[in-house]
Amino acid sequence: MMLWLTALAVVVHLVFLKAIFDVYFVSPLVHGMTPQPMQGEPPAKRLVLVSCDGLRADKFFEKNAEGNYRMPYLKKMAELGTQGVSSTRVPTESRPGHVAMIGGFYEDVSAVTKGWKDNPVDFDSVFNQSRYTWAWGSPDIVPIFSRVKTSSGELHRIPHIFPHTYTSEFEDFVASPIETDFWVFDRFTEFSDAAKKDPALQEKLNSDRVVLFFHLLGMDTTGHTHKPQSKLYDENMRLIDERMRTLVEQIEALFAHDNRTAFLFTSDHGMTDWGSHGSGQVEEIATPFVAWGAGIARNRQMVDIEQADLTPLMSALLGQAIPVHSVGVLPLAYLATSAAYKKSSALTNIKQIFEKVHVKKNQKRSESFAWSFKPFGKMDEDELKARLMALEDATSASADQSAEEILASLIHTGLEALTYYQEYDRNYLRCLVALCFLGWMVLSLLQIFEGSSGRGASAHWSVKRPFLLGGIAASFGVMTILVAQNSPGIHYLYTLLPVLLWTIVLYKIFAGRFRLRDAGPMLLPAATLALGTEILVLTFFYRPAVSVGMLMSGLWTYFTARHLSTRLRLAWLGTSVLVALFPLLPVVGSSRNPHLVMIAGILSVVAMGYLHNMDRQFLQWDLQAYGVTTLQILVVILCSFLVVITSNRVDAHVSPGTYVHVTSWVIWGS
Ligand SMILES: [Zn+2]
Repeated sequence: MMLWLTALAVVVHLVFLKAIFDVYFVSPLVHGMTPQPMQGEPPAKRLVLVSCDGLRADKFFEKNAEGNYRMPYLKKMAELGTQGVSSTRVPTESRPGHVAMIGGFYEDVSAVTKGWKDNPVDFDSVFNQSRYTWAWGSPDIVPIFSRVKTSSGELHRIPHIFPHTYTSEFEDFVASPIETDFWVFDRFTEFSDAAKKDPALQEKLNSDRVVLFFHLLGMDTTGHTHKPQSKLYDENMRLIDERMRTLVEQIEALFAHDNRTAFLFTSDHGMTDWGSHGSGQVEEIATPFVAWGAGIARNRQMVDIEQADLTPLMSALLGQAIPVHSVGVLPLAYLATSAAYKKSSALTNIKQIFEKVHVKKNQKRSESFAWSFKPFGKMDEDELKARLMALEDATSASADQSAEEILASLIHTGLEALTYYQEYDRNYLRCLVALCFLGWMVLSLLQIFEGSSGRGASAHWSVKRPFLLGGIAASFGVMTILVAQNSPGIHYLYTLLPVLLWTIVLYKIFAGRFRLRDAGPMLLPAATLALGTEILVLTFFYRPAVSVGMLMSGLWTYFTARHLSTRLRLAWLGTSVLVALFPLLPVVGSSRNPHLVMIAGILSVVAMGYLHNMDRQFLQWDLQAYGVTTLQILVVILCSFLVVITSNRVDAHVSPGTYVHVTSWVIWGS
């Protein structure tokens, strides 16, 4: 009896886990869109994109204590062009950040299960649409855009993208994090020297729609190990700034100062004062964005953008189709082109978004009955066609509607429609999952009541049969509907599981000898459990709820465990209160404090010594146990010292030393 229940519990909870991804983390990617070509003469022939991994916006835009900018050269270039904050989204990680700026969409969160490494599905990018792209940088970032997954699942290099990466070993063993950036700059110097002697390469470089991409990992690593407030973070910013000046000069020289190069400098995400990133704090989300050169307008004020807006901007600068998965909105304030070009690129942006809406809509329609399908309410297809036709007329330079007005008139409706179809199944699936949850809860309760009353459901076949037949009939019913609707495979699971659970529940209630009064003695424990669970759920949204739970657990034991001595109960209550204080402290501090670790070490040694002594009074003398405990105390002392030594060495920018490494590994291994 219990075995099938345990098996069912495992299955039900696995389905719940999967449901989280299917309901909330739906891939934003659909396939089958036609790329919309950009019309007119583009302002830039080539584009340089530099991504300074983990660089914080405030560090770039604000002056340091001496009143100087940390990247003076880039700041000067920003004055010649346009600058602003580019906002990324959670998860603030390297891969999603780069996908947003180069692919134009906020990545499929379910890629987290693939470790953000390989492409779960293929997507279009600015590099893919370019004629040629050369990319230098980390082996974790560059290959995301240079490879394509074939239908057989193999990864192939896209022929017109040329990746140059160092090895992960190099990344691990460089003396300073900035070395990885020097590697990138040095490889470009070699590349441009080689290009001067290589006519074939020169010809490629001199074609239109060329992208040069530089990924600089150093600031991210610097921030992780030394924190953004460190001197080294500032110093490395200065070093990168110097090398950026050389890089820009090299590129200008390589293309004979033809003024057809657009330069873009940004970062994929920021980081907290603690040097971490991934969540949604302002310091993690805000990144600097600077653009200057061919086709870039000069703005005195800051122009803030969303990270994915970089994709249509780069496409418009080069005059190529916007990547088909992009949800970026062209930031027109950055463009210095003819009014006609601005208007036509705004229109291309609108068409590209609606192409995506169209494909998503058809996909959802094919999965529903004609009568049950509800299209996006704000604008129907005919109205859209009429509006687009009107806009085509308005894009002629003589019409007085500006590019900004054209873009604003439709793009947000398009993005709303995209979200609508993206979340089309959400409520339906949520209802099914809720039904499933309720069924499981009632079933578990019934099982507990039956157990406490000692009465099970009637096992006679004649009683079971109608429920069994009813369950089968209901399953066939929903399956027929699902087949007729052409529903995705996973929907069968979400629909059939509640049918199964509720069939069992109904059987137990109506066929069993379940009495309501059996539930009586279980009510108080059940209510306490429910309250505890609610507090646990609250902790997700409100950290101090953990403290409430801790206090309750302390009080509960104090008042109920009467067989224990008052001293022990008081000690439990006291330590519970102490632990309850922790969730009220800030999540991460601004600096590390090895002395706290030392104090904790001393305290645990004292406590262990005290308990050790008590053992000796109460238990028989056991040499082996005595030895083990003594060894544990020694290890705690050693660990505390190791933390302090490592911390001091890191502050002094020297390696912790071989003996620290060896001792740490030995302790870990033992
Ligand atoms: Zn990063």
